[in-house]
Amino acid sequence: MTTPSIELKPSSTPLSDAEREAILANPGFGRHFTDHMVTVKWTEGRGWHDAQLTPYAPLSIDPANMTLHYAQEIFEGLKAYRRPDGSVATFRPDANARRFQLSARRLAMPELPVETFIDACDALVQQDKAWVPEHGGEASLYLRPFMFANEVGLGVRPANEYLFIVIASPAGPYFPGGVKPVSVWLSENYVRAVPGGMGFAKTGGNYAASLLAQAEAAAKGCDQVVWLDALEHRTVEEMGGMNLYFVYGDKIVTPELTGSLLAGITRDSLLSLARDLGYESAEGRITTDQWKRDTENGSLTEVFACGTAAVITPVGTVKSTGGEWTQSNGEPGKVTMELRKALLDIQTGKAEDKHGWMHEL
Ligand code: PMP
Repeated sequence: MTTPSIELKPSSTPLSDAEREAILANPGFGRHFTDHMVTVKWTEGRGWHDAQLTPYAPLSIDPANMTLHYAQEIFEGLKAYRRPDGSVATFRPDANARRFQLSARRLAMPELPVETFIDACDALVQQDKAWVPEHGGEASLYLRPFMFANEVGLGVRPANEYLFIVIASPAGPYFPGGVKPVSVWLSENYVRAVPGGMGFAKTGGNYAASLLAQAEAAAKGCDQVVWLDALEHRTVEEMGGMNLYFVYGDKIVTPELTGSLLAGITRDSLLSLARDLGYESAEGRITTDQWKRDTENGSLTEVFACGTAAVITPVGTVKSTGGEWTQSNGEPGKVTMELRKALLDIQTGKAEDKHGWMHEL
């Protein structure tokens, strides 16, 4: 596979410094987009071509575009952080690039070379560097690479044309008022993914499938839904858009990758980082009964969720058809907060990056 070089066609009318600063003062999440985007095309017989950095702009889509009908679409999410010396680095973009390839394969799409994925992210961050929030807080520039079928037609089959795009959106701190535990609803009425399905792929359909369950969680007074296995509704898989970790004293355990949950990059990083900090870390199987029982007998000391958006979020109250219980008295746990700080310190350049996770531009 060849890697096309990116032609730079920057905007002649980017936002002014004052307009950008006004957005960066209160960016929220996914509400504002930087001045540019990168696009790369794929065509059957030709491969990847026409890699360009251009002004951020709407796309013109034919009503019969295959993606609008059959959802052959995948995406990624990663962050660029400002470091103490003012430079900028992204966190494990190679891991996102590889996961993007896994998702592509599952959806019968062409696999973008890892270098092209990283080059596209780098080109966008380089061009829109001024959009990366200042060092100091937990704000970052969120990158959203995605790819979709770009062929017109209503036949159900893999498309013969695709468009890969990277856009970027400044993200404020996830917990501006301090880290707060989330309440979760264990979903039995709805499942996110089934064995042999698309659970391990980052594709829009999985998120569409989650919306009604999330609404049910909200109706039960919970912030987030926790997904259970599709067949027995007993084994814990993941939470909304984050993976879960169970803290047993000085051992942390995360649900094993069964194929129906997403292999989070934060999850993977914590398996190593926890060991660096002297904890034991493992993948395993955790059932809802065990979750309740081990909380009640005191062996399960903390539960937290992890993902790119919030890094680490403590879990407080758990509600289910089998009862309700609370972790760590509803306070952020000690191990949870220690891991959170350790990971954020690496991402923001405050701590040594022993694993070579940061990709400097
Ligand atoms: N599970 C799901 C369903 C997600 O959408 C995400 C966010 N990408 C995660 C887990 C966490 O993955 P990561 O740590 O790579 O952000």
